[in-house]
Amino acid sequence: MTTFIVILGPPGVGKGTQAEILSERTGLAHISSGDLFRENLKNQTDLGKLAQTYMSKGELVPDDVTIGMIRERLGRLDCANGAILDGFPRTPAQADALEIMLAEFKGRVDVAPFIIGNDDVLVDRLSTRWTCRANGHIFNHKFNPPKENGKCDYDGSELYQRDDDKPETVKRRIQVYLDQTAQLLSYYRDNGKLVEIDGMQTIDQVTQAMVIALKK
Ligand code: AMP
Repeated sequence: MTTFIVILGPPGVGKGTQAEILSERTGLAHISSGDLFRENLKNQTDLGKLAQTYMSKGELVPDDVTIGMIRERLGRLDCANGAILDGFPRTPAQADALEIMLAEFKGRVDVAPFIIGNDDVLVDRLSTRWTCRANGHIFNHKFNPPKENGKCDYDGSELYQRDDDKPETVKRRIQVYLDQTAQLLSYYRDNGKLVEIDGMQTIDQVTQAMVIALKK
């Protein structure tokens, strides 16, 4: 049976950072829907251009487009043993579609760690976040600085500030999360997959809590 982990939590709480660390430790693929959209935008695909009209406003890309993109990604070879999903699902329709897709791939969601954060801290974290141009590695000049200013520790590429990490868009993203994504918590709580994790601890402490959640 393949293992799928769905990381839940508001924007800026550390889903991407933890997904990267866990992916390295477990060998499971890290699938970030936001990274996939940004990659499409970089390559100027139709999907990327369409997604950008929503992303720039902090709104969700429509479900059918997002589900189609994830379906294609899950079908790739590196997901044969499972994957860590970061940023998907974000709506109940996406969660339902994920169940159907995983049934096709003979997989299932094993655990859904929910990283909890405080809104003010999230706005502060996002506005000080720097993302690597080549592979989306995440740094924060206050909490998780790169070794060399402006340069990714992993691949040496340029670090940039995402457009949607500006305070106005961040506030909208948090609101969209509360309106649309928070409904997923009861979905995964009801099916016994949800494990709550305090995201206001250090990166290492959050990882330790995630590892314990994964063993359950
Ligand atoms: P993220 O990198 O996860 O913060 O996502 C950045 C942006 O990509 C979001 O604000 C949305 O516009 C879009 N996005 C990412 N994942 C999804 C998703 N599962 N459903 C809809 N839109 C998404």
